[in-house]
Amino acid sequence: MKQTHLFTKTRREAPKDEVSKNAQLLIRAGYIHKEMAGVYDYLPLGLRVLNKIVGIIREEMNAIGGQEVLLSALQDRAKWEATNRWDEKIVDIWFKTKLQNDTELGLGFTHEEPLTALMKDHIQSYKNLPQAIYQFQNKFRNETRAKSGILRGREFLMKDLYSFNIDEKTHDEYYESAKKAYIRIFDRLGIGGETYVTFASGGSFSKYSHEFQTICEAGEDIIFVNEAKRIAINKEVLSDEVLKDLGLDRSDMVEKKSIEVGNIFDLGTKFSDALGLNYKDELGKIKPVVMGCYGIGPGRAMGTIAEVWSDDKGLVWPESVAPFQVHLIALYGKDDKVRKAADELYTKLSENGVEVLYDDREGSAGEKFGDSDLIGIPWRYIISEKTLATDSVEVKDRKTGKVEMKKVGEILNIPFFAKASKGRQ
Ligand code: ATP
Ligand code: MG
Repeated sequence: MKQTHLFTKTRREAPKDEVSKNAQLLIRAGYIHKEMAGVYDYLPLGLRVLNKIVGIIREEMNAIGGQEVLLSALQDRAKWEATNRWDEKIVDIWFKTKLQNDTELGLGFTHEEPLTALMKDHIQSYKNLPQAIYQFQNKFRNETRAKSGILRGREFLMKDLYSFNIDEKTHDEYYESAKKAYIRIFDRLGIGGETYVTFASGGSFSKYSHEFQTICEAGEDIIFVNEAKRIAINKEVLSDEVLKDLGLDRSDMVEKKSIEVGNIFDLGTKFSDALGLNYKDELGKIKPVVMGCYGIGPGRAMGTIAEVWSDDKGLVWPESVAPFQVHLIALYGKDDKVRKAADELYTKLSENGVEVLYDDREGSAGEKFGDSDLIGIPWRYIISEKTLATDSVEVKDRKTGKVEMKKVGEILNIPFFAKASKGRQ
């Protein structure tokens, strides 16, 4: 993409009312726009990052047998009354609305009820099980505190997967495969090193649920981490009994602030009992389906990456989620030699499948470098009269700041990246 074509502008200052680092940086660099507290729009650069995160999660959900759907945001009251979750004394984050005839509707904050009810049309026998169904869908939650930028939206994208099994044993096996998929996802998103499987308050029949908590000062949670074992306990459940249960010693645990980027939960038969999702087993006996739920907020993950991977100059995207791999910066001289060479390089890189943001604007080197640091694309290629004198391009690694001169021919292909990016997040 040519930067002259990109409608978003970088800005020096974030809006005064924006207090979170992730949103400040993302707004300044033109990734998102703030509509109001807890409500953000994704602009072209931001949507590219969000879509990459979604793409990684989708691959991993498909790899554990997930089937993708898209359920409605508008919710029918009756289904939520069946589980006693319509009542605002029980669920205090509902957004509700009304039809013209005064029928009340809700805006979904999660989707256990409608999906459990929907699956009654498709699950009658043990032969119809197991199933794993997921979606990427906007949730609405009237969150009281919405001060953490895209970490806590009032309208936000969630990946929610629900599993349906015949019994606890098969459920447990699926749950373990989902836990492994989650670990792979956060590794691929570049925050694996900071993210811990965290024991949290229990599901319906298991003693614990598992949260995926990323160590970060901006986090709203407190966890106790055992670095050697790479596990953590949420402060909410920390007790001598839990430590003993998990074979952990309090003196080996360090207290940290963290962001819950995902969580997985066994639901037992709570929803299938309430909504009548049953199946006939091999002996013809009617049994309730055993369920689990598995959530990740792609927007919260993006905000977490922005918090973890940024410096005083701006964002520092891991390659896997960066909006582009290369930021090609042309410093035009007196004649059109540099423009010609840069245009040609842009075309060739694009043809070779490299995702390039091409700064083809007129402007000073200082301005262009400042914007580039803020936007945070992993590799910066600078082409100027000086570099062209040796048929070279200056290659700068955003993360390490390391600069190398490369011949034009050397940087035209992906393999350069594969090599250069080995061992990188
Ligand atoms: P929290 O305790 O932070 O409010 P939660 O327990 O309510 O989170 P879930 O209902 O389990 O979260 O939602 C699944 C996932 O969706 C979370 O792990 C998180 O990644 C994401 N998520 C939850 N609430 C928000 C929000 N308000 N904005 C963005 N992402 C969110
Ligand atoms: Mg919540």
